Amino acid sequence: MRGTRATAAVLTAATVPALLAACGLGGAEETSAAGRDSLVIGVKGDQPALGVKRPDGTYEGFDVDVATYIAGKMGVPKSRITFRTTNSSVREEALAKGTVDMIVATYSITAKRRMKVTFGGPYYVAHQDTFVRADATSIKNVRDLKDRRICQVTGSNSWRRVIEERKVAAKPVTVGTYGACMDALAAGRLDAVSTDDLILAGFAAGRPGRMINAPFTDEKYGVGLKKGDLKGCEEVNRAITGMYQDGTAERLLNKWFGRSGLKLTTSVPQFEGCT
Ligand code: GLU
Repeated sequence: MRGTRATAAVLTAATVPALLAACGLGGAEETSAAGRDSLVIGVKGDQPALGVKRPDGTYEGFDVDVATYIAGKMGVPKSRITFRTTNSSVREEALAKGTVDMIVATYSITAKRRMKVTFGGPYYVAHQDTFVRADATSIKNVRDLKDRRICQVTGSNSWRRVIEERKVAAKPVTVGTYGACMDALAAGRLDAVSTDDLILAGFAAGRPGRMINAPFTDEKYGVGLKKGDLKGCEEVNRAITGMYQDGTAERLLNKWFGRSGLKLTTSVPQFEGCT
């Protein structure tokens, strides 16, 4: 009798995952970015030098190149990658719903996001800085943003760094993307755009205005994966290590930011660990 019950318990434990998988409710194995023939990768579409959608529908930028390298190491060639514009406001949702398999889109690893997302990397550590119009000489550091209109991109963390973490009483203005923030700044609807130096450097190349050069955070750019995709995360981390070891990271940083004046870090960042 006891034996029979034990056997039933074992059978149940072994059968449940298979049944769930058959119903499309499987765990990390089924939804992992590892072992795939093709990948859908979320990137930005309007951030010069990071993620830009060209008129012909293809994408370019540092994040696009990093994503292509990582996918290649995971066995997926460029021809089998579909890039999809994934703005800050939809990143967590896109991973949870499975509309993208992976996100490489100036996506900082934060404690709050880690509750919903598994992050590989970081593949780079940027720093938050602030971009102002050329005539705004009185804005010298983050504290000078008090009472100034700053960009609040939905789903992005940069405005929180100023208002919630630094407790600077800036006036946030909601805008959809960083491209739209730069347009609003040029049009006089904002006083400053405070976000990652890589993002600002990408825009600065084509616009009047200046970066104030007062970095105040570490923005650990992670590769977003569906929560629980530890196998995918470990493969991503192996690929990032390779990207630094074989000189690709340095080459890509120089390719996209070599003329920006930013101090570039070419050693592999400390990984956060897959959780
Ligand atoms: N790295 C910051 C973040 O993840 C700002 C850029 C962005 O939203 O893409 O919130």
